[in-house]
Amino acid sequence: MGKETIRVYARVKPLGRRQQAGIYSVDDDEKSLSSLEIIVPRDLADGFVNNKRESYKFKFQKIFDQEAKQDVVFDSIAKPVAECVLAGYNGTIFAYGQTGSGKTFTITGGAEHYNDRGIIPRTLSYIFDQLQKDSSKVYTTHVSYLEIYNECGYDLLDPRHEASRLEDLPKVTIMEDPDQNIHLKNLSLQQATNEEEALNLLFFGDTNRMIAETPMNQASTRSHCIFTIHISSKEPGSATIRRSKLHLVDLAGSERVAKTGVGGHLLTEAKYINLSLHYLEQVIIALAEKNRSHIPYRNSMMTSVLRDSLGGNCMTTMIATLSIDKRNIDESISTCRFAQRVALIKNEAVLNEEIDPRLMIIQLKKEIQELKDELALVTGKQRTSELSQEELLQLDELIETFLKDNDPDSTLDVDADMRKIKYCFIHMKQLMNHSKNSDQKLFSSHISEEKDANKEAGEEELEKMKKLLQQRDNEINILVNMLKQEKKKAQDALFQLNAASAGSTVLEPSISVNLEENRSPSRCFSPKEAKDFSSSVHRLPFLPRKTGGKMSLGCQEAFEIFKRDHADSLTMEDNKQLLKQRFAEAKCLGEKLNEVRNKINCLKGEITQRQIRRAALAVSSPSEELNMLDPVEEKLRTQIEEEKKSYKTMFNRLKGLKVEIEHLQLLMEKTKMKLQKDFEVWWSEEAINLQQEKPEMVSSPNTTTGYAQFIKSSQHLSTNSFSESTRVSPDEDPVGKNSSITSSNTTSNTRTPPSSSIPLTGDSRADADILAFIKARQNILQKKGKSCQKIRSQTKISSTAF
Ligand code: ADP
Ligand code: MG
Repeated sequence: MGKETIRVYARVKPLGRRQQAGIYSVDDDEKSLSSLEIIVPRDLADGFVNNKRESYKFKFQKIFDQEAKQDVVFDSIAKPVAECVLAGYNGTIFAYGQTGSGKTFTITGGAEHYNDRGIIPRTLSYIFDQLQKDSSKVYTTHVSYLEIYNECGYDLLDPRHEASRLEDLPKVTIMEDPDQNIHLKNLSLQQATNEEEALNLLFFGDTNRMIAETPMNQASTRSHCIFTIHISSKEPGSATIRRSKLHLVDLAGSERVAKTGVGGHLLTEAKYINLSLHYLEQVIIALAEKNRSHIPYRNSMMTSVLRDSLGGNCMTTMIATLSIDKRNIDESISTCRFAQRVALIKNEAVLNEEIDPRLMIIQLKKEIQELKDELALVTGKQRTSELSQEELLQLDELIETFLKDNDPDSTLDVDADMRKIKYCFIHMKQLMNHSKNSDQKLFSSHISEEKDANKEAGEEELEKMKKLLQQRDNEINILVNMLKQEKKKAQDALFQLNAASAGSTVLEPSISVNLEENRSPSRCFSPKEAKDFSSSVHRLPFLPRKTGGKMSLGCQEAFEIFKRDHADSLTMEDNKQLLKQRFAEAKCLGEKLNEVRNKINCLKGEITQRQIRRAALAVSSPSEELNMLDPVEEKLRTQIEEEKKSYKTMFNRLKGLKVEIEHLQLLMEKTKMKLQKDFEVWWSEEAINLQQEKPEMVSSPNTTTGYAQFIKSSQHLSTNSFSESTRVSPDEDPVGKNSSITSSNTTSNTRTPPSSSIPLTGDSRADADILAFIKARQNILQKKGKSCQKIRSQTKISSTAF
């Protein structure tokens, strides 16, 4: 693949009901680039920073206007990249745009409908489909899911996510090897052998991201998420491995942060996010400049991780997501400007092939053996590396005869055997040296002085042996050195492999010890559990949230009301109905499949019966023509073919249904979790309001402590991830039932879990009071014309949007 510029697409989000459309037009040319024109009305242009132009034009590879559906976006943008990745090239797709412009919708998808699946689930489906079709290679697939928040990396597939606060998790750090390749320590690579496993991991990561999010920590707008699919492929018997990576990136919101109302923690976040995207911009500006030698990749974690995707070995695509309503025109223009700069960057993707040294050694050994066998076949003799004693004697004789022969045409004929040829040379050399060094006299009196000659011969033999020994020593040394080099190469390769795949496990033991010290044993994940979790991954996050039985009655009742009125309950109901329908359809299909299978078997039976009858007939009346075609049998065969066809169609439909059902189930669990989270936030807010508005309710000594506990625990809930407090049941609480209450101000240090999930007061009478109050409050609000829905939707704004 030669040098190619980054492909840049634009996608315009559909307008919300109450949004006023900005003025823009799309000029979509099938053959060349499309262009987007944004018109800034005079009044807005006046306020626009140093610029009073009215019309702005931007070029894109293609523009997806408001009505573009997810499948079309996938086909145009992601499919070509996925194909390259399957062929062994690296790929990256990243979405850039302000918060709410549809980045997550485009990359991951909407959380409500199956058709809203985004690029990640569709790409996984496509890739696994292709892998299944290609039996010529052995493929392995892994996924990783990295979140970068405040310049720190977190592994979203870390099972400890659920049990710990974000800050307590091991950070993913960048390591650079001598060849300047980036390795990520503490980022796990999880193997996914099929679409279902990969999707489960995606949902697991998304849920972890949601759990970590609090109103103070709006991960979905302020963090970058990189979902990576790693594919390696190898042809059976070959030592060459192809490795490729596909990064699917959901960047943080690109908006310039409002200068009002932020302070302390939020300001730090804002600064970091700006910084991170600012560095991305710097890298892009540097890359777009010609003759620029230094590119500041190392300034931020994100640019380091995406180094190859930006101006390196990668096929990269950007999607600029735009929310072109009137209020967002300036942000949309700034997103387009960024896109225009990205479009100048040239990347060069190369085939990522490497040779596995272990496989290479095996292959070479095999080759040597084959050559030896071939040689043995040609010469008719088995050949070892050393010459036999008999062969050596033979050679000595040959050499001696040759040397003695005065005929100038005489030759020394030792077969086409390198071992013998070498031996002859060495022997000659020794003789030469010997004749030079030894006294000429000794040589001439060789025959006359037999005694001396014998002695001389002995010495000569000794000398010869010594030299031979020296020579063997040298050979051994060379071989040992060679072996050492090979071993080092193999170790290097293994180190690289390990660094890439098992780097994350480095800190595991110490971390689990920490967890064990601080938490009840039931919350610890053994390494085995961590390894095995992917199969049960979609169930994990929800188990501790099942609060049934632990909620007080009042709280339960409030939850029921909240659930009934919640906007998501409609979606859940819809999806439930859809799921039911799909289940029924699947059941019906299953039954039909069985029917068809039975029918095929019956038809086959009939054919066999007919064949037996015909054979019997042929024996009894040989005049009948045996080879004559039986029209009934032919008909039965066509019938079988037709049945098989319909079986196959139904089977494929059933397979599709299975994927859809699994997806729907995951969507529902996610919505359920979101509902609970919304409820928890709403419940604690109501509790705070209650204390502020109704201090007189705190009357009896019993309820006083109840409310005090309640408020403390709700404060605890709002500052920490709520999920943390929902995990330990009263019996599991190692400190005692009220530990969270008495030590709530030190929770951040000791991280003692609160006594139970939502029984905020632990006193059902107090809860009933809260409920009564909430109901009264709802009534008042309803009377005032404000629906409760609104309160919840306000609360919802602060919770995760998927
Ligand atoms: P971002 O990730 O950029 O902050 P989201 O993807 O969360 O934005 O989108 C904000 C809202 O708009 C979500 O409710 C999402 O479902 C909706 N949305 C975004 N793009 C589209 C689209 N193309 N079609 C329908 N709804 C969309
Ligand atoms: Mg988002």
